[in-house]
Amino acid sequence: NLKPVQVKLVLLGEAAVGKSSLVFRFVNNEFQENKEPTIGAAFLTQKCRLEDKVIKFEIWDTAGQERFHSLAPMYYRNAQAAVVVYDVTKAASLDKAKSWVKELQRQANPNIVIALAGNKIDLVQPNEEGEDDSESGRQVPTEEAKAYALEAGLLFFETSAKKGDGVRDVFTEIAKKIPLE
Ligand code: GDP
Ligand code: MG
Repeated sequence: NLKPVQVKLVLLGEAAVGKSSLVFRFVNNEFQENKEPTIGAAFLTQKCRLEDKVIKFEIWDTAGQERFHSLAPMYYRNAQAAVVVYDVTKAASLDKAKSWVKELQRQANPNIVIALAGNKIDLVQPNEEGEDDSESGRQVPTEEAKAYALEAGLLFFETSAKKGDGVRDVFTEIAKKIPLE
């Protein structure tokens, strides 16, 4: 049955971590350096073809600013999937991501598929042996975020919307986890 299965997906995370850029990379396979911040939320669709099904993502890209927080439940309420984004060069953005995950796990659909995405890995310098992370620009070690994701039951990815690394995987792995009706 290759009739597309519609899946409502919401993006959440602190402002400026790269939510809109990840969606733009997924939908257009491009990066725009000077994108204006999202107001309220933006809506986009994109299909994802798997061996046994076609998923049509209906994507709600939310603003992230605190003043729009009260709108978020409108976007995640009936969502079957969520991508919670943080910036690997900004430790506080992982704390914000964790609070979004908590909110989703309490208030969203209990079967929601949640992916955690650590974005902007292109800004991290490769580490020399024995060098600590602070030298590289990285503030969130991969292992720390991965351990948290495992414990919280999330898919986990590191991405670069700028270069494209990891972006397709986020959506493909989510698509695989969506049950066929
Ligand atoms: P949003 O507020 O979470 O939607 O974030 P945006 O997508 O608007 O991006 C915020 C800023 O981060 C913009 O200046 C983007 O160009 C930049 N940005 C987004 N993704 C990346 C990335 O993967 N790498 C780098 N270097 N910059 C990025
Ligand atoms: Mg945005």
